[in-house]
Amino acid sequence: MSKLTGFKEFEREAEGYRTPADRLIDFKEIFAGHEETHLQVQSARCMDCGVPFCQSDQGCPIVNLIPEWNDQVYQAHWQDALDRLQRTNNFPEFTGRVCPAPCEGACVLGVTEDPVTIKNMECAIIDRGFDEGWVVANPPGARTGKSVAVVGSGPAGLAAAAQLNSVGHDVTVYERADRVGGLLMYGIPNMKLDKSVVTRRVELLRAEGVRFIVNADVGGRGDTGVDVAELLEKNDALLLTTGATIPRDMSIRGRDASGIHFAMELLQSNTKSLLDSNHADGQFISCRDKDVIVIGGGDTGTDCIGTALRHGCKSIVNFEILPKPPAQRAADNPWPRFPILFTVDYGHAEASHTFGEDPRVYSITGKEFVTDGAGKLLGITTLGVDTNLQTIAGTEKTWQADLIFLAMGFLGPEHYISDSLGLVLDQRSTYQAAYGQYKTSIPKVYAAGDCRRGQSLVVWAINEGREAAREIDLELMGSTQLP
Ligand SMILES: Cc1cc2nc3c(=O)[nH]c(=O)nc-3n(C[C@H](O)[C@H](O)[C@H](O)COP(=O)(O)OP(=O)(O)OC[C@H]3O[C@@H](n4cnc5c(N)ncnc54)[C@H](O)[C@@H]3O)c2cc1C
Ligand code: SF4
Repeated sequence: MSKLTGFKEFEREAEGYRTPADRLIDFKEIFAGHEETHLQVQSARCMDCGVPFCQSDQGCPIVNLIPEWNDQVYQAHWQDALDRLQRTNNFPEFTGRVCPAPCEGACVLGVTEDPVTIKNMECAIIDRGFDEGWVVANPPGARTGKSVAVVGSGPAGLAAAAQLNSVGHDVTVYERADRVGGLLMYGIPNMKLDKSVVTRRVELLRAEGVRFIVNADVGGRGDTGVDVAELLEKNDALLLTTGATIPRDMSIRGRDASGIHFAMELLQSNTKSLLDSNHADGQFISCRDKDVIVIGGGDTGTDCIGTALRHGCKSIVNFEILPKPPAQRAADNPWPRFPILFTVDYGHAEASHTFGEDPRVYSITGKEFVTDGAGKLLGITTLGVDTNLQTIAGTEKTWQADLIFLAMGFLGPEHYISDSLGLVLDQRSTYQAAYGQYKTSIPKVYAAGDCRRGQSLVVWAINEGREAAREIDLELMGSTQLP
């Protein structure tokens, strides 16, 4: 245990972000950096409980050994902490930055006090590991002669590739985009996860022997198409980690107006142009001097707000159909479940800093997009909704907008691979494969991550990628040592 009375002596103090004024002028990471003494004080708050709920079903999906590395941080044994962390998490530098930390929602200290800053600790341990040169490529000692094709290079595909390669299988990852990383690269914006952090990990995997083929659209019919039947034929297993890429639409009058885009059109074009040319090529949707409305109050919506503000938008409003969450846990949302609370994320704080108020409007939905009659967007008319999400008569309001971004979640994977392979889908139109087994309806074909479980989190994608790798290894070799 870190310090017997640490939880009584010290209050939670999460690591800070750069100030909004400072961070809004660039797309660099929002985080202010780690400070060793501060982290040691915070790690002293861990009680090393008899039953660490942070590692339970309600806590960390990859069962990170949290109390152990908290203690090692407290003792300043950073290399030991790194060793423990890497046993369960292939990519702590991703989760340490972007995970919503269900572990903290389940922390036992959280019953009566604020929880331990677990996510900060995770990020600091891996960042220290990279800074000190402790994180190095570790190729397998021998090869098995078996080959696995992984389709999609998001966190599920990368975690599976890392695990399968570590036990000696030849792994090739096919990615239809021009860069590896899935939503780590072209979804989550640079200010939350710098793309050099993603490529650093990809280069390590490459050095360990994983092959990456980009601009390879498996099952696609265009110039970059790769025949999926051939891929299945020439490999011992095929793992689909293609993500949940169909966005939810808002099919109301005026939808075909020119200024309405899915959130991913903004986020993907912004990151690509940033990486290709530092925005000099102009190949992105610019919000500069525009009245912007973002529909959808989740992570994707927040990322659109942060991006629009960095472009220099004239105004920003964010609609959410659900009611404003409470400040304290509701009776039907008890500990150790993930807390559904009102929080101020980075984009909301930045909007308040820029325009003097929080951009969020709750319990609201679109009625129709307003256009000039010639296809140009002028705004949107909305209606208030009650707690059953039914529209309320007499609440109509019109809002001015040059650009509207739809960030209302994702419906599941695209179906051209499943159609050509003849895969069975489940009711949510995701690839059917049982959790824990990952086998689809076709022999040798597996599925993991958002394409199987539906839109989720990076940490769940890592969990599924790791577990699917274990199942594939077991099938190929008859036994497995993978966790
Ligand atoms: C804007 C945004 C912000 C988010 N922020 C967070 C966050 O802060 N924290 C968090 O935990 N989660 C966040 N998420 C969710 C998280 O990113 C996903 O749950 C996670 O990336 C899913 O991983 P995956 O590997 O299953 O799929 P993805 O990351 O979606 O990767 C799938 C990959 O497959 C490729 N692909 C698809 N079809 C083919 C094909 N036919 N051939 C070749 N390649 C193909 C795609 O191009 C893509 O690169 C966010 C999601 C979005 C959209
Ligand atoms: S991966 Fe997420 S849930 Fe697990 S320890 Fe890290 S922050 Fe917590």
